[in-house]
Amino acid sequence: MITMKFGGTSVGDVSRLREVVSIVQSYLAEHPVVVASAMSGVTDALLQTAQLAVERKNDQVEKNIAALREKHLRVAGELIRHRERRDELIHGHSLLFEELLNLYNGVGLLRELSVRSLDAIASFGEILSCLQIAAILTDSGVAAQFVDARTMIRTDAHFGEAAVDFAETNESVRSFLTPLVNAGVVPVVTGFIGRTRDGLTTTLGRSGSDYTGSIIGAALGSDEIWIWTDVDGVMTADPRHVKGAMVLPQISYREAAEMSYFGAKVIHPKTMLPAIENSIPIRIKNTFNPSHPGTLISRDANSTERVVKNVTSIDNLGLVAIEGNGMVGVPGISARIFSALARVRVNVIMISQASSEHNVCIVIPQKDCRKAVDELRSEFEADIARRTIDDIKLQDNMSIVAVVGEGMRGVPGIAGKTFSAVAQANVNIIAIAQGSSELNISLLVEQSDAHKTVQAVHDAFHLA
Ligand code: ADP
Ligand code: ASP
Ligand code: MG
Repeated sequence: MITMKFGGTSVGDVSRLREVVSIVQSYLAEHPVVVASAMSGVTDALLQTAQLAVERKNDQVEKNIAALREKHLRVAGELIRHRERRDELIHGHSLLFEELLNLYNGVGLLRELSVRSLDAIASFGEILSCLQIAAILTDSGVAAQFVDARTMIRTDAHFGEAAVDFAETNESVRSFLTPLVNAGVVPVVTGFIGRTRDGLTTTLGRSGSDYTGSIIGAALGSDEIWIWTDVDGVMTADPRHVKGAMVLPQISYREAAEMSYFGAKVIHPKTMLPAIENSIPIRIKNTFNPSHPGTLISRDANSTERVVKNVTSIDNLGLVAIEGNGMVGVPGISARIFSALARVRVNVIMISQASSEHNVCIVIPQKDCRKAVDELRSEFEADIARRTIDDIKLQDNMSIVAVVGEGMRGVPGIAGKTFSAVAQANVNIIAIAQGSSELNISLLVEQSDAHKTVQAVHDAFHLA
């Protein structure tokens, strides 16, 4: 059995969807389970329209819904030959668009747009898309059935990026999908979305369909999980920004998790977790070039290959520095910093502390900087008054550039080579961190220098 996740571009227009049908047809013997995203651009459009709705720009809202309806209608018109089936899909979509319009109206009336409402609104993209894929497959002679993942994926109520309850989810995935697969039916499951125990719609975070793919694949004990996208595999750097980026034939789960966590958008960082636990290989493949072997992600890192696998960057970060002579040797400061940040749910991406302990630097998403600094100032109010801590400083528009590869472990000179490449590019490094696993070296630079830094490091390791 193979679980196949198709991303937004892979289901984004008529010709791509034809390719999806032909891919599914050619792997029918492997009992494919399909997980799919919204058509490309649809999730963004749904979320932007929610913003217009709260501003009561009703004309714009209606115009956007009409455009989304048109985008899906074109697919139904071109890809579904059987008239009744086509009408049934169009009717199903119409009901969904009515429901969506009602939600937008509600948002407009209340003038309130919560993350919870955004999740409900965003879920429409995957539902529209998967209803359409199931109908197209059926029309092409493949027994297929639409499956709303909300009936299986149980999450907490942390809207926007809900956490999955695996015990319940695994159980329902098996009881729902196994009979379908055994009956020779291809389930077409909505990526990205789940539901709380109270019946509220949640999402697993932007780009979360990859994660759904591996949750489903792992629960079913699939032989492999395939992520179909628009590039030949995981590359040595983001091909949109780096000249000479190349496809990596094989990387380890840890490398994949590390590079995606630090900004390689090709796969969602959480995707690796269910796969690791069940030792299921993940393959990244290109719907535009299906015969290419792609990238295999498994336990082995393929150590015969390059030492440094990937250079990535993550933008829109802020640096919070907690400084003071009085901090030296005082136990518990770091613990208080992290507890304060956890209270306001701020995720720390990088930490750096000089051995003088005079200064602790933490790097967090820019959008969280204000609340993080406010919370830290209140946590350390007494210490600031006492001058144990001088101040809590904030610097924004930062990027982390991460150099990732399992082979770096125990190989001397990697850090030196990285720093001299960055120096030659005339970029100032603001902070450095290296995990003790030596899987990753992270550099903090100004955002305006990030691309230049990635390119320089990429070139230095002859990744090109
Ligand atoms: P999908 O819609 O299939 O989920 P995404 O747009 O989420 O696709 O991810 C694929 C894109 O990720 C590629 O088109 C590429 O531009 C980008 N990308 C960024 N970093 C990398 C990398 N290291 N390797 C491959 N692709 C990358
Ligand atoms: N459609 C969702 C998004 O755009 C999920 C995904 O594509 O993986 O974030
Ligand atoms: Mg994606």
